[in-house]
Amino acid sequence: MTSFNDLGLSQPLLNALTAGKYTQPTPIQAQAIPPVLAGRDLLGIAQTGTGKTAAFALPILQRLVDTRHRPAPKTCRALILSPTRELAAQIADKFRTYGREMGLSITTVFGGVGMHPQIQTLGRGVDILVATPGRLIDHMDRRTLSLANVETVVLDEADQMLDLGFVHAIRKISAALPKQRQSLFFSATMPASIGQLAAGFLREPIRVEVTPAATTVERIDQSVIFVEADRKRALLAEIMLDPAMERTLVFTRTKHGADRVARHLENSKVPAAAIHGNKSQSQRERALADFKAGRIRVLVATDIAARGIDVTGVSHVVNFELPNVPESYVHRIGRTARAGKDGAAISFCAQDERGLLRDIERVTRQRIATSDRRSDEALAAASAVANQNDRQDSREQPRSHGHRNEGQRQGQRPNGSRNGGGHRSEGQRHEGPRHEAQDGQRQDRPQQAHKPGGRPFHKKKPGGHNGGGRGFGGGQNRSQARAG
Ligand code: AMP
Repeated sequence: MTSFNDLGLSQPLLNALTAGKYTQPTPIQAQAIPPVLAGRDLLGIAQTGTGKTAAFALPILQRLVDTRHRPAPKTCRALILSPTRELAAQIADKFRTYGREMGLSITTVFGGVGMHPQIQTLGRGVDILVATPGRLIDHMDRRTLSLANVETVVLDEADQMLDLGFVHAIRKISAALPKQRQSLFFSATMPASIGQLAAGFLREPIRVEVTPAATTVERIDQSVIFVEADRKRALLAEIMLDPAMERTLVFTRTKHGADRVARHLENSKVPAAAIHGNKSQSQRERALADFKAGRIRVLVATDIAARGIDVTGVSHVVNFELPNVPESYVHRIGRTARAGKDGAAISFCAQDERGLLRDIERVTRQRIATSDRRSDEALAAASAVANQNDRQDSREQPRSHGHRNEGQRQGQRPNGSRNGGGHRSEGQRHEGPRHEAQDGQRQDRPQQAHKPGGRPFHKKKPGGHNGGGRGFGGGQNRSQARAG
């Protein structure tokens, strides 16, 4: 089996890997590091959680040290483009960790924070710049940064870049890069649009593909709870009574939904915070830091905000609402079971989300087991407490009529036997951008696993049911939630 010693990495990097308890390279690291060290372009098909950051960061650090020279003012030697601020900050942190013995300068440039300190830092010249596209272009336009000296460029999470509408920004950035350069391109999926972008960006690339979706999903204990939309918050508060849910990432479809869920949890005495595009950078950072440090047990996030978030030890992912696009389900649940750990994913499915559930089961080629975890009595008790607190919460929005009865309804079974039609669902309310970003146009499908370990279930024949389409109209919306 390949070890880090076989990859041609220098001693300072090996020391950092040992200190970080990385004993063995992940498949993408084993395959990507040698050619990238040799200066080749790379097309990496891999998602977050596969170790792709180290796959590009380690050889970039080494190459910069091997050809060390002082970067000219207002230039950088390596440029890493990230779709979101959180991911940019995390990539920079990894560069700092891996390169801690190397004395290279590393900085981030993204929106939501002041321009001036960035201008000053860039003015001195930096070795490694991690940036979101919008803010990078601001600096290019102001001539506070030139890309003329970039030796290596990384485009990370290219599919997400396109989802976020960064395609023109990427083209503009590409045009400003020198022709002689090394280019690395990473995407979790490879539809035709991404293939075209990659073709224009790369020269004779090595192609490395890992299929984490299958391996990751296999290790995740997945279950679904059928519940009416307006009972979901109470249900969440109830399942959070389980101390095993140590560090839980909850996904909602909208930003407002994320806020409402976080408030409800707080009212139910479950420390929680929401993270999404309407939060300030400092709020996002604080929420993430609190979550990582265990000061809050629940982080409620939209898909975009959660993308790229790397928190080890996420014990559970809860899909408060099912995503419109089945691939997002795989991305979401991949937040748990990271770096070789196991995890659990619980999906709440309302009546009008059953088509989405069928789509997910079809794409992942597996039947998601129905959960047996909740009792209606406990749910009713938790609902009553939370309801009481909700009413006292002056911050809460005027609520729907349906909520009045939350916790009072009886006999709603979690196993899908009740018929829950007629209630207005969170996913149906139009209170802001309905989706932060969903891509209904992806053409590829992640290769999928079969049964996650754990509960038994009846396997469906792939394609045996077609799901009746996407419940909310296919999610063609592009995001308004730009990062940079
Ligand atoms: P990434 O896909 O780059 O976001 O990495 C996912 C997680 O795996 C991060 O927490 C990394 O620190 C961790 N990781 C990356 N490479 C390794 C490795 N070779 N051994 C153990 N953990 C790793």
